[in-house]
Amino acid sequence: MENTEKKELEITNFIRQIIDTDLETGKHKTIITRFPPEPNGYLHIGHAKAICHNFGIARDYKGICHLRFDDTNPVAEDVEYVDSIQDDVRWLGFDWGDNLFYASDYFEKLYDFAEILIKDGKAYICELSQPEIRATRGTLTEPGKNSPFRDRSIDENLEIFRRMKAGEFEEGSKCLRAKINMAHPNINMRDPVIYRIKKVTHHRTGDKWCIYPMYDYTHPLSDALEKITHSCCTLEFEDNRLLYDWYLDQLPIPARPRQIEFARLNLTYTVMSKRWLRNLVENHYVDGWDDPRMPTIAGMRRRGFTPEAIRNFCDKIGVAKANSVVDFELLQFCLRDDLNLRAKRVMVVLDPLEVVIENYPESPLNPPLQSEAEQTEYLDAENNPEDESAGKRKIPFSKVIYIEKDDFREVAPKGWHRFTLGAEVRLKHAYYVVCKEVVKDENGNVIRLICEYDPKSRGGWTNDGRKVKGTSHWVSAEHAVNIEVRLYEHLFDKVDPMNVEEGKDYTANLNPNSLTVLTNCKAEPSLVDSEKSEKFQFLRQGYFCQDYDSTKENLIFNRIVGLKDSWAKMEIKK
Ligand code: ATP
Ligand code: MG
Repeated sequence: MENTEKKELEITNFIRQIIDTDLETGKHKTIITRFPPEPNGYLHIGHAKAICHNFGIARDYKGICHLRFDDTNPVAEDVEYVDSIQDDVRWLGFDWGDNLFYASDYFEKLYDFAEILIKDGKAYICELSQPEIRATRGTLTEPGKNSPFRDRSIDENLEIFRRMKAGEFEEGSKCLRAKINMAHPNINMRDPVIYRIKKVTHHRTGDKWCIYPMYDYTHPLSDALEKITHSCCTLEFEDNRLLYDWYLDQLPIPARPRQIEFARLNLTYTVMSKRWLRNLVENHYVDGWDDPRMPTIAGMRRRGFTPEAIRNFCDKIGVAKANSVVDFELLQFCLRDDLNLRAKRVMVVLDPLEVVIENYPESPLNPPLQSEAEQTEYLDAENNPEDESAGKRKIPFSKVIYIEKDDFREVAPKGWHRFTLGAEVRLKHAYYVVCKEVVKDENGNVIRLICEYDPKSRGGWTNDGRKVKGTSHWVSAEHAVNIEVRLYEHLFDKVDPMNVEEGKDYTANLNPNSLTVLTNCKAEPSLVDSEKSEKFQFLRQGYFCQDYDSTKENLIFNRIVGLKDSWAKMEIKK
């Protein structure tokens, strides 16, 4: 984290300004924030924004940030999600120390609070069914209707509530509702449900409870019980704030958090809600939550994204009130920015074409060896031109090499600087070569180029002022390692995947080309001993790292992100 620390300290936004004021006026001495996920799915890049924001405040103000699971809905929750969320927050570089909490730890307390509301005449047991409650809630323009159970006596309410807790009633037969105002202009205030019966095992409390508190009741009270000073959440909770404040006003809580809403992150070509992501996983549109195409933290980690790049992205997008859609390009920019500094450059040919260097063994620079096959020399290659300390490595060169099929054109377009009959091309770190002959199979497909190299151009340059514009990457055939490469494109091919024609859903916008698997790629041998976590730049192809499925015997690499301004593309004049 050291590299980015200085930059991150300069962050300011409207929430930090509120905190500055609260510290100046002495309203708070220690700032306490929290990141409060519901453990009903894996975290996505939108959550990363909330994590960087809340944990970033704790870091910069020397405060505390809690990780709290708002686990009020046992039907949708799972320990798998609880575990993955912790992994993801930690991986992003944040630490909650001892401050790991669960809303379910407060079930007892929340139950007691509910009894207080009943005793104060502020909550009642309602026997309307869920659809009936919905139907009597009214609309934005019409008030709702009072429940026929609204005026039960306090004693009766208390007795039924206790029997609900004891498991005497069926699911859906009864619930506890706040008694506020069915004509309130804010629909959240129209006697919202506080407790419902759910005869479901909870991943933490087991079968202890058969009534569970609603999220809107649990969330603000959990914040208050934890003495959170600033409860930051996304804009869609703005309308809930009135209700949250109502609960806080009624109950004997130890502190009163201030809720501040900020805009959620939306990204082009991406769906963000866990609900939509879960559907993709459960219906096998993708290969699990950590599919490298997913906008989940787990997917991005597997793909090879770095926490530094994601944190930097979150700093760049900032925290504001107005909703917007961020261009996916910005995330890719942050990735390239980070990977450029750390990624070791290597040569990998994704779609190989054989090149035989006819005159190679006669090289005056290399004493003739016993046979052609033995003719190998080791050339120096820098590991990272951005970082001298990354050093150099030796790469083998020999008579038969592979180049990228796409680097050869039989009929060269204007401005073409790569392989074509008669043209001189630089092999990166190696020699100048000229294509002398094109060999085809019986169907007319090019299967081999016969080239000649210039021994005076060792290292890829000469001192005779000769200009060779095109540079190609290559791999020595004899030394090449076969690897599989997985190329990714956006998971959706529409900028806004939720925008669909009538009668269709967002899965209609899935990009059929989001994954391309190349199984015959040729890599330089240094990749065999690479670390699984190591990031690479495959020259001219982008940034890559090993997939989880990769083994030493069967190397598999994910493309993390392409090279935006790859010299490959720039050299072709339009
Ligand atoms: P989803 O709609 O994906 O299920 P959620 O808001 O229900 O998201 P929670 O688990 O409740 O997910 O989220 C935990 C925290 O993350 C909340 O404070 C929420 O406001 C924040 N958060 C969720 N999505 C985004 C987003 N796209 N941008 C910023 N913050 C987000
Ligand atoms: Mg939610």
